[in-house]
Amino acid sequence: MSNETFVIVGASLAGSKAAETLRAEGFTGRVVLIGEETEPPYERPPLSKGYLLGADAREKAYVHEPQWYAENDIEWLAGSLAVELDLAAKTITLHPTDTVGYDKLLLATGSRVRTLNGPGSDLQGVRYLRTLDQSDALLEGFRKAGHVVVIGAGWIGLETAAAARQHGCAVTVVEMDSLPLRRVMGDEVATVYRDLHAAHGVDFRFGAGLREILGTEGAVSGVALDDGWEVAADLVVVGVGIRPAVELAQGAGLEIDNGIVTDEYLRTSDPSVFACGDVASSYNPLLGTRLRVEHWANALNGGPAAARSMLGKNEPYSPVPYFFSDQYDLGMEYTGWVTPGDYDQVVFRGEHAVVEAAAPEFVAFWVRGETVLAGMNANVWDVTENISALVKAGLAGKTVDLDALADPEVPLTDLL
Ligand SMILES: Cc1cc2nc3c(=O)[nH]c(=O)nc-3n(C[C@H](O)[C@H](O)[C@H](O)COP(=O)(O)OP(=O)(O)OC[C@H]3O[C@@H](n4cnc5c(N)ncnc54)[C@H](O)[C@@H]3O)c2cc1C
Repeated sequence: MSNETFVIVGASLAGSKAAETLRAEGFTGRVVLIGEETEPPYERPPLSKGYLLGADAREKAYVHEPQWYAENDIEWLAGSLAVELDLAAKTITLHPTDTVGYDKLLLATGSRVRTLNGPGSDLQGVRYLRTLDQSDALLEGFRKAGHVVVIGAGWIGLETAAAARQHGCAVTVVEMDSLPLRRVMGDEVATVYRDLHAAHGVDFRFGAGLREILGTEGAVSGVALDDGWEVAADLVVVGVGIRPAVELAQGAGLEIDNGIVTDEYLRTSDPSVFACGDVASSYNPLLGTRLRVEHWANALNGGPAAARSMLGKNEPYSPVPYFFSDQYDLGMEYTGWVTPGDYDQVVFRGEHAVVEAAAPEFVAFWVRGETVLAGMNANVWDVTENISALVKAGLAGKTVDLDALADPEVPLTDLL
């Protein structure tokens, strides 16, 4: 029986998966899981998909059943905000009053939404989406709303727009850029998403910023853009990105650079403190660079990887980045990593044009020269392992024949 105490701050996917791994790997000491939220740890992807559509039960999002924590001797401190970290004393102070000592600490504090503070931003009917409660509020809003304006055409904005359309709302998406998702996807695939949403009746307003959210009697009544355009609306969803929740780490003096800096073992600048999930900016030896990845798979796998490092197992965490998105009938998985804009072309395997509102089926490969940097399978399944292998081969210097890459008749395994 160990007399060590391992503390995890952040009771969401990364944190609760880390707790699970500590027990699965045989750690017999105290495990304390500190979470600001009162809901049992849950996964966030359903919040903009099945749950927001009203199709999935709340419990389906839970990482474990609520009783799992006690059954596995995990001290889950719900509704506890960690407000101070003292690296020298190895203590965490909780709000309003409590102190927990640790031998090893994992910071899995995730992200917080970026908020607006311009005119009208505090009106009733201005919504964000990060938590289950916020998804509840949106679902209720969509059931009543006539016109929804979404600010920001990133993943959250687009998935929310799709859900709002499926609830029968009129939807306008406002985006400063010229296409949705352009920075991450590039023009070629961003165009597919624009066309898909347009075919489902979404009105896009590109190239304009928000001037003001208009209100009547304290509630949203419309939106005005800086190009003079205005529209009536009863709900505004803001999806303008997130920032890593580094307050605790920063206050303690840990190294921060767009997230909590870690090495490939997810160790921070303090040898007893680890970080994983959305909040960590970790060195990935496979890619040879430090990355902060704001996606589900990195929380799912990063939590267990950090737990193993806390137990002293020397296994570098070097995943090929992966994420997924579902919008209308289009499901996709993206595997690989492209620095925005740093590719030569996108090679399509299959027809990517959106015809009427039918979701296309294709794989897109981002290539530099004849090297595959990343691939996205859209309504084509069971190929991510092959795409991941192509990305790894590319990192090892292997090239592919681009005609064969584009040819659906050539199995991807033949290119490896
Ligand atoms: C609506 C939505 C849909 C998404 N859909 C997808 C998708 O389709 N595909 C995909 O790949 N990714 C998706 N993501 C991203 C994915 O959910 C995140 O990458 C993942 O949730 C990160 O997990 P995490 O555990 O690192 O952090 P988080 O989920 O952010 O959890 C961090 C937890 O720590 C708590 N916390 C923070 N600070 C403190 C503190 N000081 N004290 C106590 N507790 C604290 C927070 O309250 C929170 O509960 C989606 C995200 C959202 C919001």
